[in-house]
Order: sequence, then structure tokens, then C-alpha cells
Amino acid sequence: MNPAGKPGKTGSLMAVEVALARLLAMAEASPIRERERLPLVQVQGRVLADDLVSTLDLPPWPNSAMDGYALRVADWTGEPLVVSQKIFAGQAPQPLKPGTCARIFTGAPVPAGADCVEMQENTEILADERVRFTQTMAPGQNIRPQGQEATVGELILPAGTRLGPIEQGLVASLGCAELDVIRKVRVAVLSTGDELIEPGQALGPGQIYNSNRVLLCSWLQRQGCEVIDAGILPDDLATTRTCLGELKDVDLILSTGGVSVGEADFLGIALREEGELTLWKLAIKPGKPLTFGHFRGVPVIGLPGNPASTLVTFALLARPYLLRRQGVKEVEPLKFQVPAGFAWPKAGTRREYLRGRLENGRAIIYSNQSSGVLRSAAWADGLVEVLEDRTLSEGDYVGFIPLSEVLS
Ligand code: AMP
Ligand code: MG
Repeated sequence: MNPAGKPGKTGSLMAVEVALARLLAMAEASPIRERERLPLVQVQGRVLADDLVSTLDLPPWPNSAMDGYALRVADWTGEPLVVSQKIFAGQAPQPLKPGTCARIFTGAPVPAGADCVEMQENTEILADERVRFTQTMAPGQNIRPQGQEATVGELILPAGTRLGPIEQGLVASLGCAELDVIRKVRVAVLSTGDELIEPGQALGPGQIYNSNRVLLCSWLQRQGCEVIDAGILPDDLATTRTCLGELKDVDLILSTGGVSVGEADFLGIALREEGELTLWKLAIKPGKPLTFGHFRGVPVIGLPGNPASTLVTFALLARPYLLRRQGVKEVEPLKFQVPAGFAWPKAGTRREYLRGRLENGRAIIYSNQSSGVLRSAAWADGLVEVLEDRTLSEGDYVGFIPLSEVLS
């Protein structure tokens, strides 16, 4: 680590936090508010439109956490008790006869008059079918109280919650069969570059296969977006203008490539002509150049073309932007601090997001961190964050963002 611990000097480069804050502010300025009502089984990956408030107590009545016997502790003198009823889950019990116990099973309602359930392992059944309790018991024991999970009127999930299997299960437990969710964000995906051809075709001289298109289209679908696959855009101004003009009814144009200050930056020229453009040089590696702008009022994010740069900038910037457009509050992925299983002898001026893995509790990194090497990310299970102006010895702590955090 840098012993002086000085704040990083990134020159004219923009810190990733600053870029993210700007993008999120822009997302908040054009929120998607239209909603649709969907059956609960179809809301995976979608965003809750309204606060979800419980209309019932959960559980609705006290119930048994064990297979055993329900009794009133004060009725127990040490003598065995007669079993006065048997209560299975799904049944409505009679009030407990004083001085007796009830056979009860997990999830069954505790009868009125009982204040404790003793598990069957701590009992003996005598020849006359009375039950001997072998241990002292306390009121409340093994009873799940009414409303322990939720009470009527309680806020369970705030608007803006992203829904996954756990939230769906929770909503089901409250009895809701349908939810109002924000409509899908419509994202047009464009790959730019004369060198690109689609997989399945024969590779000509100077050509490479388009990997970003499928990477982003399938990532966006996983995120609950509606994807408009706008194909490959050649490095040509007239076609760029026409193609952008044809993208009607979308919430975001997401392009890759052509955002460096290279001569083939036709996207930038088209945006300058018919909208506006901000070109950011970010203090991150991979992924330095990033474009944000508007084309005839439609927001455009231009990610750098190298596949690992596309991945990192989508994960750290475009994904949070899209989630915030739908009103999601928690848009940044979880990041853990883990010891580095590698040394980093040369401090960089940009924050690095290395493709890495956890092995024996330490982060290790793929041997080739070139931004053109997507294999590094296929091998990895996380992004290892090395701060700018830092050197590392093995065992120093680094940030680790699991890829699973950003891939859904
Ligand atoms: P650019 O930002 O257009 O200069 O592209 C940077 C690098 O990424 C170049 O090597 C491009 O060939 C490559 N690249 C751009 N777009 C794609 C894509 N869709 N799939 C794979 N590689 C790409
Ligand atoms: Mg290009």
C-alpha cells in the first residue's frame, strides 16, 4: 500500500463515483413511471411500483414450531398430563381443557389456554397414554407468536424494491397474487465498428466477431429490460444518423465502441449534431472513455468497445443508471474487502477492476488483464478493485464485487 496514503491524483480523469452520481442524477430526472399489473409468478427482476403494506398478521395465529405437546406451564406440577386433543397443521383447535395437554404438530395453531409447546423428544408416553414431561418449561417456548413476521398495516417492501424469488415468496406469504410493477425499460443495443461481423459468418481480413451485442442483450434481458437489438452500426456518419433516427420509442440507446477520441467516432458526431454529448474520461481501467448524451431527446450511453471494458462500465455505471430509471434505490453492488492473493507493485493512476476469483479466502487475478480479453471475466467470479495510486503486497485488502451481484 502507498505508505503516505495520499489521495489519488487522477489529473483530468473523472472519478468513477462522480460519473455514477451524475448518471444517477440524470436517471432521476427521467424516471419511468408507467406501471403494469402482473401475476406474482411473472415479477422476477421487476421493480415494485407501490409500497407493499401487510393486510394481515403473519402468522395469523400463534402456532407450534415443533412436533410435541401444547400445555399451560402453570398446569404442570411434575405429574403426567392427559392428552385432551390432537391438532394437525391446517386444523382449528378447541380451547385447551385446563390441566391437560394437546398433541400438536409443527405449524398447527396453538389452542387458546396453552402457553407453551414442549418438543416430543422431552416427553415420555406412559402405558395409560398420559404424557410425562421430563424437563422444566417456560411460557412462550416453541410458539411462533401471531404477527412475528408481519402485522396488519406494516410496510413490508417499499416502492422501488427489485423483486426476486425471496420477495416473491414473501409477497405470496401475505396473500397477494398480483403486483403493480414499473414497466420494462426499453433499451436499444447498438454495436459500432466496421470490423464487426456476427458469429456464424466466415471471418474476413481485419474482421472480428461481435461479442458485445450478445453480452449486453442477454445481460439486459436478465435484468428485466426489453431489448431492441439494433445490430451493427458501420463507422459511417450517414448510416449512424439514419439508424439513430429509426430508434423510436426507446428509453435508452446503449452503444459500444467508437467512443474513444478516434477518427471513427461517428456516434459522437451524430449526437453533437442532433442532441448533446458529454465525453467522459473515467479514472477506471478497463473502461476509460464513456459517452453520455441525448439524440433527439433519447438518452444515449456509449460504452467503450473492448469487451472487458464494456463489461466493467456496464456493471458499474449503465446498470445502476437503468435501475435508478425504474426507481430502485439500492443500485450499487455489494463489495467485500478481502485479502489480496497477489502483489501489485506498480501503482496506477486509474482505479483497476481486475477480473479475479476468491481462492482460499484471497482474491487472485486472471493472468491477462487486457481489456480485449473477455476470457478473463469468464474465468472470474468477481471484480477486484485496486484503488488508484496504490501498490499492494499479498495480504493487503482489496475490494471484491461478485459478478453474481451485477449479472442479475
Ligand atoms: P472502439 O471503441 O470502437 O475503438 O473499439 C475498441 C476495441 O474494441 C477495438 O479493438 C474494437 O475492435 C473492439 N470492439 C468494439 N466493439 C466490439 C464488439 N461489439 N465486439 C467485440 N469487440 C469490439
Ligand atoms: Mg470502433
